[in-house]
Amino acid sequence: MPDDHGTRRRYRHGCRCTRCRAANADAQAKRRHAHRHGATLLGAVVKATEARRRLQQLQAEQVPIAQRLGLKCGRLRLHPDGVTVRRLLQLRWLCREYLVGEPLEPNEQNP
Ligand SMILES: [Zn+2]
Repeated sequence: MPDDHGTRRRYRHGCRCTRCRAANADAQAKRRHAHRHGATLLGAVVKATEARRRLQQLQAEQVPIAQRLGLKCGRLRLHPDGVTVRRLLQLRWLCREYLVGEPLEPNEQNP
């Protein structure tokens, strides 16, 4: 088995050895730094109000939302506590593509 200690992945899977804790602390510091300098974190959770409204608009137009987002479950469900910035951006882009008729640039496809 390869020695993969010293990674955030290993830390998330429960290892608390010094190298894994250091990797996690480093990742947290980088995230905090990015956030302080105005970066939008795609994993941050925001209120679902806009996402819910956009989802309803897309459903009314019978847009294949789950298929376009690559969801295996076949239906997008929004968590009542909020959605990630990533999901909100995906819904905005689908709205832009289907409701405004403005296709995405290739570099905007996957937030
Ligand atoms: Zn470890």
